[in-house]
Amino acid sequence: MPTPKASVIIPAAGAGKRFAEAAASLHPGAVQPPSKAFALLAGRPVLVHTLERFAAVQAVVEIVVAVAADKVDWARQAFGDCLKGAKRLVVVAGGRDRTESVAHALAATDGGTELVAIHDAVRPLIRPAIIEEALRVAIEHGAAVVGRLVDHTIKAVGPDRRVLRTVPRDALWLAQTPQVFRREIIVHAYQRRENLVGYVTDDAQLVEAMGQAVVMVPGDTVNIKITAPEDLRACEALLAAGWPFET
Ligand code: C5P
Repeated sequence: MPTPKASVIIPAAGAGKRFAEAAASLHPGAVQPPSKAFALLAGRPVLVHTLERFAAVQAVVEIVVAVAADKVDWARQAFGDCLKGAKRLVVVAGGRDRTESVAHALAATDGGTELVAIHDAVRPLIRPAIIEEALRVAIEHGAAVVGRLVDHTIKAVGPDRRVLRTVPRDALWLAQTPQVFRREIIVHAYQRRENLVGYVTDDAQLVEAMGQAVVMVPGDTVNIKITAPEDLRACEALLAAGWPFET
């Protein structure tokens, strides 16, 4: 059987308001990057690190990045040739929220790939071996989410910060990205997304709402999502120490 091919979607169209405010308070007056996906990490934009992690995976044939509408031309110029070899890089305009940005990118993928992986631009330390495992699990089960079994004690807390109860954690996982789906499953989930009420924070939620099985893939603790300037420093320290340590 030929190896299934994967399209990768990287939403990077967030304004990164919280990050910008925190960075501006740390370094008043300094020129700030347009958002955290384009902040410099070890001298190169975060997005470039993320692109390279996926480019290292053989099954990946294309990467579609969603950026803010006013940054599409700039991003095409800046990142257009950063994927070497036979992989295609497409830049599209994102939407009002993350889900809409993913929907735009999904529409721009090559319909011929069997798998679609969705990964936050701001998780640049993902290991290619974990991506490969997520692709494998998605082929087998239809949907795979990289995550970690919760190892902290979880408190349910009221609006006055009073602890209501301690939540048993043995069946709790933190969801990260990538989240990988067989193409027909994620396309169908996105077509039906308007019917889903409530706050959607990841793509797997749309798939779960269809009653489709979603299987967790154990990832690393250091698949850091850069949301604050100190996260950038932590990524920088790990890269300086030789992350990913296995190679
Ligand atoms: O804001 P949040 O941390 O949830 O963003 C997660 C990812 O979704 C980021 O990579 C961000 O750039 C992206 N995003 C997007 N389009 C939006 C909002 C967020 O692509 N409208």
